[in-house]
Amino acid sequence: MNTNIVATSPIKKASRVAKKTKGTQNPSKQLPKFPNKEKIEKFIAENQLKTPYLIVDLDVVENNYRALRRTLPMATVFYAVKANPAPEVVQRLVTLGSSFDVASPAEVELVLNAGANPENISFGNTIKKEDDIKWAYDYGVRMYAFDSEAELMKLARSAPGSKVFCRLLVSCEGADWPLSRKFGCEVDMARDLLIKAKDLGLEPYGVSFHVGSQQTRLDQWDNALAQASALFRELKVAGIDLQMVNLGGGLPAHYTDSVSPVGSYSSAIAKALTKHFGNKLPNIITEPGRSLVGDSGVLDAEVVLVSKKSYNEADEVRWVYLDIGKFGGLAETLDEAIKYRLEPLGRKGATAPVILAGPSCDSMDILYEKFKYQLPLSLQVGDKIRIHATGAYTASYASVGFNGFAPLPTYCI
Ligand SMILES: *Cc1c(COP(=O)(O)O)cnc(C)c1O
Repeated sequence: MNTNIVATSPIKKASRVAKKTKGTQNPSKQLPKFPNKEKIEKFIAENQLKTPYLIVDLDVVENNYRALRRTLPMATVFYAVKANPAPEVVQRLVTLGSSFDVASPAEVELVLNAGANPENISFGNTIKKEDDIKWAYDYGVRMYAFDSEAELMKLARSAPGSKVFCRLLVSCEGADWPLSRKFGCEVDMARDLLIKAKDLGLEPYGVSFHVGSQQTRLDQWDNALAQASALFRELKVAGIDLQMVNLGGGLPAHYTDSVSPVGSYSSAIAKALTKHFGNKLPNIITEPGRSLVGDSGVLDAEVVLVSKKSYNEADEVRWVYLDIGKFGGLAETLDEAIKYRLEPLGRKGATAPVILAGPSCDSMDILYEKFKYQLPLSLQVGDKIRIHATGAYTASYASVGFNGFAPLPTYCI
C-alpha cells in the first residue's frame, strides 16, 4: 500500500490488468482503464504545462464506451455531452459509433462539427428556449425530451412531427450527485402528455428518467423501470405503442469510495429490463456522461499556500490552498458531494489531516473540510497535487475567469 496516495486507489490494479492482457489478439482488451502515467508525464514535460490543467486519456474513454456496449448490448449509447464537451472526446465517440445527448444549440453544433449525424442526436434537456428548438429542428434534430405541458406545446409548434419522450420523476436515493425534483413529472401526468403529444402531431416515442449521477445503488433502475413499464401499459390501453426507454445516466466513476464495476450495473439493468418488459424489449437508450469520461482525466494542481490559523499546538489542522477551487472546475466538491482521489506528487512519509481550499477570494471556495484528507507533513508550497478521475464535470464547470483565474484548459492525449 502506497501511503502517498490518499484513500484507496485503483491505479495500481489497473497497471496489473494492463500487463496481464498484453499480447492478446483483441485490441479492445488492451485499452487502459485509467490514464497512462508515462504518456501523461511525457506530455507534461514536452509541453511544459503550467497548473492547473486537465489531461484526458482518450483511450480510457474508448475503453469505457466499449465496456458499456459489451455489457449492455441492447442499449444505444447517447453520450451526455455536458460531462466533457472537449471536441476530441466527442470525435473519438463519433468514430466509435456513439450517439449524443445534448442540451443546447452549442452542443448540437459541437456534435455535428465532430461528424455526428443529426439522427443520432437527442435534445434531452427538458427546459429549452423555443428558438433553440427551432434552430435544432432546422439542423435535422428530431428527438426531444419534455416533462411539462408548456414544453410539449413548444415542441408541437417548433419541432412538428418529431419523436418526443417524457421524463419521469424518479427517486435519486443512493446518488452522490442527485438530479431529482427539478426534472420529470409523475406517471399520470406523463400519460396525459404523451396522449396529447399524439393529438398535437408529434410522435409519442417513449419515456426517460435519470436515477441521479454517481448512483451507488444497483437497484435504482429497477424502481424506475417499474414506473416506465406501467406507463407503457397505460398508453397501450389508450391506443399508443411507445417504442423507447431512455435509462439516463448515473453509472459511476472511481472516486475515494469504491463502486461496483460497470458489468454489475449492466446486469442489474438487463435483469430489470427483462423483469418489466419481458423478452421483447423496446428500443433502449442509455446516456452515460460521468462513467465514460470521469476516470479518463487527471487534473494537476499546485500548492499555493500551507498555513495554520493559530499558534495553538493542539490546532493541528493545516489549511492547504491549491491553484484550483470551486470556481476553477471543482464545482462538484459542493457539499463535498464528489470526493476525488488526491495524490501528492513526489512527497512521501507521515501524513496528517488538512482542510483543502481554492485560491479565490470567496470564502465558500473550500473544497473539503468535513472530509479530512490526509496529506504529507512535508508538503510544501509549490508541490503538485494530482486529482484523479476528473474527466467529468470539471473543465465544463469552470468559471470564465472569477478573480482573473483562467478557465481550466483540457488537453486530450
Ligand atoms: C447529465 C445527464 C446525463 C449524464 O448523467 P451521468 O450521471 O453523468 O452519466 C444523462 N442524461 C441527462 C438527461 C442528463 O442531463
